[in-house]
Amino acid sequence: MPVLVINCGSTSIKAAVVDPETGRRLAELKVERIGSPEATAAFNDKAPTPCSSSCEEALSACLPELLRELPDDARITSVGHRVVHGGSHFRSPTLVDDKFVAVLEEKTDLAPLHNPANVSGIRATTELLQDVPHVAVFDTAFHATIPRRARTYSLPQEIANRHAIRRYGFHGTSHQFVAKRVAEFLQQDLRTLRVITCHLGGGCSVCAVEYGRSVETSMGMTPLEGLVMGTRSGDIDPGALLHLMRAEGMDVNELDILLNRKSGLAGLSRLGNDMRDIEKQAEEGNEDCQLAIQVFCHRVRKYIGAYAAVMGGVDAIVFTAGIGQNSAVVRHRVAQRLEFLGARLDEDRNRAASVNRDNPVAEISMPHSRVRLLVVRTDESWSIALQANDLSQRSGAEATTRIIPVAISARHIHLTQDTVEALFGEGHELTPLKPLSQPGQFAATELVTLVGPKRRIERVRVLGPVRAKNQVEISRTDEFYLGVDAPIRASGDVANSPGITLIGTESRQVTLEQGVICAWRHIHMTPDDAAQFDVEDGDVVDIEVGTNRVRSLSFGDVLVRVKASYKLEMHIDTDEGNAAELNMSDVGELERTDAEGTLRKANRFR
Ligand code: AMP
Repeated sequence: MPVLVINCGSTSIKAAVVDPETGRRLAELKVERIGSPEATAAFNDKAPTPCSSSCEEALSACLPELLRELPDDARITSVGHRVVHGGSHFRSPTLVDDKFVAVLEEKTDLAPLHNPANVSGIRATTELLQDVPHVAVFDTAFHATIPRRARTYSLPQEIANRHAIRRYGFHGTSHQFVAKRVAEFLQQDLRTLRVITCHLGGGCSVCAVEYGRSVETSMGMTPLEGLVMGTRSGDIDPGALLHLMRAEGMDVNELDILLNRKSGLAGLSRLGNDMRDIEKQAEEGNEDCQLAIQVFCHRVRKYIGAYAAVMGGVDAIVFTAGIGQNSAVVRHRVAQRLEFLGARLDEDRNRAASVNRDNPVAEISMPHSRVRLLVVRTDESWSIALQANDLSQRSGAEATTRIIPVAISARHIHLTQDTVEALFGEGHELTPLKPLSQPGQFAATELVTLVGPKRRIERVRVLGPVRAKNQVEISRTDEFYLGVDAPIRASGDVANSPGITLIGTESRQVTLEQGVICAWRHIHMTPDDAAQFDVEDGDVVDIEVGTNRVRSLSFGDVLVRVKASYKLEMHIDTDEGNAAELNMSDVGELERTDAEGTLRKANRFR
């Protein structure tokens, strides 16, 4: 089922027909110097020939030719379009229709360099291939899970909100793809891993992938923030820009060119943006090139340390893209002296590392290194093909609409038998007060007081029966009130979560080392329900909630939990219920399975 993947940039077009099963290319097209009279097009390995300088005209002329390059029995089943910026609006791959194109055009102010080219590519390709689904895949979508504290800039909020100024992150298809490869290579569930992925290519970014979800990344509102890149500066004191505007009278366009095109490796080395040339010159004693490599690597190391702190630890550090996959020098400089994190580089393995489509992962850490250092081959076109294929197949399947009851969970606690006895006396057993909607579960008569660093919350209900781990489920508002910073997690996943003190009867007190979480919104369902909705345990889906269509709203990122004993029900916390003005009688409907979630399922749960 070949997928045509289109990546229209401001000066180039890359198109490839990709087999989503294997990632193999059945045909490729590269158009360069779009916008100039010297534009050229090259098919597969053939020599470039002159072509039209406009994106639409070049595609109209070249795509039919590209399709003629395909084997006779190959028929395009869907088209995946890379779109750089999805803003806050597009959190997952999206089917392309007129409405979509109109919204995307509205959002072009977010990625002025790239999105207009993406729109042109979409227009030209939908015109040419009208009978197959077209899917937009966003560089920003994987980062939709970054928490508010990490995505918010400290600007006056009214200004930030007015201009949608926040961190979005980019290279999402690559970070997601290589994180999946890591889990496969380590034969572990991505949901149990904390991975730092370093995408070091022409553009560079680092991502903290905590248990399968992006929780931090170095690019921000635009792809300019963060690491040193080929021609982009990455982080710079905004005060330095104010100074340049005053001291040199630079205007916006000049600053734009300075930061996006003249800085980074090119600016530091005075040689250009190609790391191969810079390494060669550095070896021959060129001090500018030596400094360029030092600054580049220092910045990556700094982010790795920061992201290990963000996730409270790290299990694997990944190098990918042109520089990450090929430069042993850069990997050595970045990964040396990371022993304090538990990461020990094996110099021989590092020098010998080589990855390709058949062997996409090479380990470069020592056998006893607790943190695994890996070189992983990225393939953004394959990642786009997978996501486009997935969504187009689902959109072809008949949508299932079935009412899902929504329950708002108040703060509550699950306890182990040991903790029950420590809080309520030796031999104490929980006393059921009333049954809960999930079979076998009950609200107990027992109440406890939560004591946080700032304040306490009294009369918090204990739920039964007892469990293997203590777990305190509170809302964001409770977190602020108590002064606890709890992660959003699936029930049962309490590793590295903060602790809290509990008080039971007669001043009995227990301090938990960990266990405080903010529950990830989820749906319980039986295997039969799951089959009917065409989802599996661990899928991430969108749910439309509301008593009527006029006031319905969509909850993204809802985790599916499947167990024979479950009753169909969606659980959200009190904050979410209040924000959405929902009450206990509201109902929801599985709107669509989010293709990104489905891919994550493939990443994480197989
Ligand atoms: P990408 O954007 O992923 O295609 O990466 C492009 C970058 O990878 C360029 O800066 C290249 O110089 C760099 N690169 C490719 N091969 C090597 C290599 N063998 N050693 C160092 N850098 C390389």
